[in-house]
Amino acid sequence: MRQVRRVLPAAIGAIAWGITLCAGVVTALPCEAQTTEADRVADGNALLASRQLAIPVEGVTLAALRDTFSECRGGRRHEAIDIAAPRGAKVFAADDGRVVKLFTSVPGGLTIYQFDPQGRLAYYYAHLDRYADGLREGMALKRCDLLGYVGASGNASTGSPHLHFAVFRLGPEQQWWEGTPLNPYPALVGAASAASAAGGPTGSPSAQPPLHQGSNTCR
Ligand SMILES: [Zn+2]
Repeated sequence: MRQVRRVLPAAIGAIAWGITLCAGVVTALPCEAQTTEADRVADGNALLASRQLAIPVEGVTLAALRDTFSECRGGRRHEAIDIAAPRGAKVFAADDGRVVKLFTSVPGGLTIYQFDPQGRLAYYYAHLDRYADGLREGMALKRCDLLGYVGASGNASTGSPHLHFAVFRLGPEQQWWEGTPLNPYPALVGAASAASAAGGPTGSPSAQPPLHQGSNTCR
């Protein structure tokens, strides 16, 4: 019994610590670091809201999206959204910019890192089945350009193909592997509302608009 009493508070402490991590509440950082992080999130969210993101998967409407950014996965916050789609569905660029890195990792499988045109935001597409033909690092992208195809590579379960889509606010070093995570879901909702209010993209009638009329889904 005495042993149980000693172990129990430690176990509760460990659980509480895990919950704290998942909730994203960082208590150990000094005040200066907290301010910087909060500033980066606020600044990043403002940038993201201005980008008019397209939903990056073929055939997926706003109604089908789920905000899974804050869900707990394997003891840490997801910090991305998962967009479920059949294997082989097209994955489109959510924004203009360029391909910065084509990378294969154990968790992400076949992945793409894209920067926005100013190199302030990074878009991360993971669990791809394959890349689009001709996709290469350094390539300039327009919103809705074909990047690849939905799959279940990396640690995604085989029966649940999906696109893991994450956004980061890049630091001044513009390193593709690090940044402040931002939730893309509110930006996708905002872009859909803006497109709906505007009645759809405008432009030369001869040019094929990349988005469906009145929405932020790619053609
Ligand atoms: Zn995911």
